[in-house]
Amino acid sequence: MVSLTINGKTFQIPEDSTILEGAEMHGINIPTLCHDRRLVAHGACRMCVVEVEGAKSLMAACTTPVSDGMIIRTHSQRVVNARKDILELIWSNHPNDCLTCEKSGECKLQEYCYEYDIKGEDGYEGEIRDIPLDDSNEFYYNDQRKCILCGKCVRICGELQCTGAIGFSARGFKTHVTHPFEEGMNHSTCVSCGNCVSACPVGALMPKGKEKFRNWETEKIRTTCSYCGVGCQIDLVVKDNKVVRVDPAHGPSNGGLLCVKGKFGFGFIGHPDRLKTPLIKKDGIFIEATWDEAYELIKSKVGEIKGNYGPNAFAALSSARCTSEENYLMQKLFRAVIGTNNVDHCARL
Ligand code: SF4
Ligand code: SF4
Ligand code: SF4
Repeated sequence: MVSLTINGKTFQIPEDSTILEGAEMHGINIPTLCHDRRLVAHGACRMCVVEVEGAKSLMAACTTPVSDGMIIRTHSQRVVNARKDILELIWSNHPNDCLTCEKSGECKLQEYCYEYDIKGEDGYEGEIRDIPLDDSNEFYYNDQRKCILCGKCVRICGELQCTGAIGFSARGFKTHVTHPFEEGMNHSTCVSCGNCVSACPVGALMPKGKEKFRNWETEKIRTTCSYCGVGCQIDLVVKDNKVVRVDPAHGPSNGGLLCVKGKFGFGFIGHPDRLKTPLIKKDGIFIEATWDEAYELIKSKVGEIKGNYGPNAFAALSSARCTSEENYLMQKLFRAVIGTNNVDHCARL
């Protein structure tokens, strides 16, 4: 542990921490645009600069290790002025699209411009970059005019998704994120997991949603992805009882990542073809029934078969796509109510 001072208060912080990590541990918020605790610190956006007594220049909190006796100021006037300058520079070539941008309301750039009172009037002149919208992916679009070059998408794809499908192209003012096609291939190696989309702090990488919504019209419901047995935690973004987007949650098995199915394959939830009532076959035709009718039928058939052939005439096959809790209930029903140990699941079939 090292002992240091942040904004006049003394804290004990593990010695292998950065200033940013140390501050976060004690609930002190330092703004960042490029930081993600799952990734190697990048130090690109400079929004996290802080004043360290004795240091000539401001230090990036995400890459500066703590040391004993440090005196740090996270929101001094000098620091605030530097952050304002950074935001003014970013805003100088950013399309002023907040009125119609789908990211509005959950955009880090918008949030910090509001917090630091940025109005784009401080004299930096820049042109909106002339980069056409990349619409080639089925699930998301890439609008590089809005990119702030934080590098999160490139690093997520390389360091966590381990696909390396995207990279920075061109230099200086023209730098942008693109899919470099591999030699001899006419398509990207992108697997459409959408992890870059989930990480983008602005409206550059956005899902191709069918619904229009603002984040304040939605609620988030934490649940478990139903596609496989990994148990990824997801947040269903719901507007008017309809799922309009899926966000990865930081669950123990997925750490904020998803695959293409979990991220984009949620259309089935509200699909009109889904069954809404039980169906009972009568004279060879499935007829809609109530749950009470269905349970009564199941109960009578189970009783009849059990009476004639015993409990081992039954077997339960459950699914790796169910949650642990659902699978638990399934085996409990068959062992405790029906009386058989014939229980298995689809992952062994
Ligand atoms: S990306 Fe953010 S700052 Fe840019 S137009 Fe969209 S909401 Fe506004
Ligand atoms: S969708 Fe996944 S694979 Fe494709 S570029 Fe983004 S992170 Fe990489
Ligand atoms: S596309 Fe988004 S995540 Fe990628 S570098 Fe640009 S702003 Fe950052």
